[in-house]
Amino acid sequence: MGNKKLKIGWFSFSCCEDSTMMFVEMMNDRFDEWSKLLEFRHARVLKRVNTLEGIEVAFVEGAIGSKRDEDKLKEIRANSKRLVAIGSCACTGMPSAQRNTFDEKTKEEIKPLIEKFSLNEKVVPIKDVVQVDDSVPGCPMSEETFLKVLDKYLKEFGVI
Ligand code: SF4
Repeated sequence: MGNKKLKIGWFSFSCCEDSTMMFVEMMNDRFDEWSKLLEFRHARVLKRVNTLEGIEVAFVEGAIGSKRDEDKLKEIRANSKRLVAIGSCACTGMPSAQRNTFDEKTKEEIKPLIEKFSLNEKVVPIKDVVQVDDSVPGCPMSEETFLKVLDKYLKEFGVI
């Protein structure tokens, strides 16, 4: 093992952030190992000073429900060599996209909130906005799949 670390970013959009909590929990068991392998360029759950510069792999949780989020996701994609969808909301939109399926009466009831927060009419998975290189499905994410994907990129970027 050399000195190279995988430069990663961890991002959350519209969702409950349970996969982020899982990731933090996983770190409890793997901190020593991961501190030698991973460099957190952007992870607001872990640190206050963050950057998009030089990210090799971006892990993105949650669905996209506004133009603001679309623009942010495109910026992340433009700054990352690979992008991984984390959890069902990022992979398929659901369950964060539940309001897409509301009946007309309920849609009318939530209209003031949609307008107040400048939300899009539909909530969509991240693959509808940017190219996705890998997906980690599950609600929250499958730990086993996440570790496989992480291992793949540690090898691809010459860390292990
Ligand atoms: S996939 Fe499930 S756990 Fe992850 S953000 Fe969506 S609702 Fe929460």
